[in-house]
Amino acid sequence: MNTNTSTITTAAAATAPETVAETASEAAIAIESEHAAHNYHPLPVVVASGEGAWVTDVEGRRYLDCLAAYSAVNFGHGNARLVEAAREQLGRITLTSRAFHNDRLGPFVTELAALCGKQMVLPMNTGAEAVESGIKVARAWGYRVKGVAADAANIVVMAGNFHGRTTTIVSFSDDPDARTDFGPFTPGFRTVPYGDAAALETAIDENTVAVLLEPIQGEAGIVVPPPGYLPAVRGICTDRNVLMIADEIQSGLGRVGATFACDLVGVVPDLYLLGKALGGGIVPVSAVVGDRDVLGVLQPGEHGSTFGGNPLAAAVGLEVVRMLATGEPQQRARELGAHLHERLLALLGRGVVAVRGAGLWAGIDIDPALASGREVCEALMRRGVLAKDTHGSTIRLAPPIVVEQADLDWAVEQLEAVLGEFAVRE
Ligand SMILES: *Cc1c(COP(=O)(O)O)cnc(C)c1O
Repeated sequence: MNTNTSTITTAAAATAPETVAETASEAAIAIESEHAAHNYHPLPVVVASGEGAWVTDVEGRRYLDCLAAYSAVNFGHGNARLVEAAREQLGRITLTSRAFHNDRLGPFVTELAALCGKQMVLPMNTGAEAVESGIKVARAWGYRVKGVAADAANIVVMAGNFHGRTTTIVSFSDDPDARTDFGPFTPGFRTVPYGDAAALETAIDENTVAVLLEPIQGEAGIVVPPPGYLPAVRGICTDRNVLMIADEIQSGLGRVGATFACDLVGVVPDLYLLGKALGGGIVPVSAVVGDRDVLGVLQPGEHGSTFGGNPLAAAVGLEVVRMLATGEPQQRARELGAHLHERLLALLGRGVVAVRGAGLWAGIDIDPALASGREVCEALMRRGVLAKDTHGSTIRLAPPIVVEQADLDWAVEQLEAVLGEFAVRE
């Protein structure tokens, strides 16, 4: 391929004459790393288009997307129904601000609340904003309803959590990469071990307003708590008059083979935090969902967002909710997930030391003596499978729910082949 005709190569050459880009991919990566902050370490693949579970890079190579943008693309790239909803709304109106009403917000919050079995929705944009909003709602509820003394509220969180990147959220992270040099930190959080109901019970005092947790910890490596844990948390929260806040930003909206990970164990939290897939992979859409006795504490002027609840986001989010209301994505994730986990469990002892997860979501611990998670993901990429490592030797698979079973089988075969290559090298 003659890269000299590419505007990307020309621009890269203009800004970084010392780097000679050989391929269109290298050129694109060079220009990005010249001017984009280096807060990520992406795999060296430059995606140009996508359809369903597959993406194509700038050199025309195809890859099976087994990350789905951390579950934001649950319904596949270029999902016809979602693209059509967006296109139709683009032609009408996209942003009004909440200074005025728009005709898309009402249907969106009505149907999202119904999907969640709740009464009210607070629409925001990113996941971190939903978490921040949930924290503010819980504190206001604590002071105004529970009767906690001013500024004394605390929230119990879990070791190994991931809830986003704002200064308040990283204040209660225990990941040094997420925290170092970003202090001073927001007070008012206490951390307990994940999966330990007794520790949670002990940490709660009269000033505790909420327990915030992921029903399955995503970034920690798809960590599924013991079966009785979430019901125990629910019981403790009810007994102690504390809100249970489930961060279902990554686990929710079909991924685990149910609408919510909480559904898998019959638990209903007081607040759901939603994001990622709620925007259909098209626009950032997030929400806090709860009943009137909690979300109703917010009064005009106390909280807001310029883009939250905008008509484009609401139109796409509404279509996402309608797809989930049929139960079809959940069922597909459940069936394909059972098949995926069966295939992955067969790799135990053959380079894989543990497999966890639920539905179409898997955390796979690679034998660290064999390869790092990053090395496995790079080798998978060369074979046409895009996956992402987390915490050393764990890789996670979360393909779009629209993936075909034959493609899943092929991806597992590629993983098997990669593990075989590393075993030979050892
Ligand atoms: C991704 C994620 C967030 C943060 O969402 P952003 O849209 O990146 O701000 C919060 N909680 C969980 C569980 C997540 O996976």
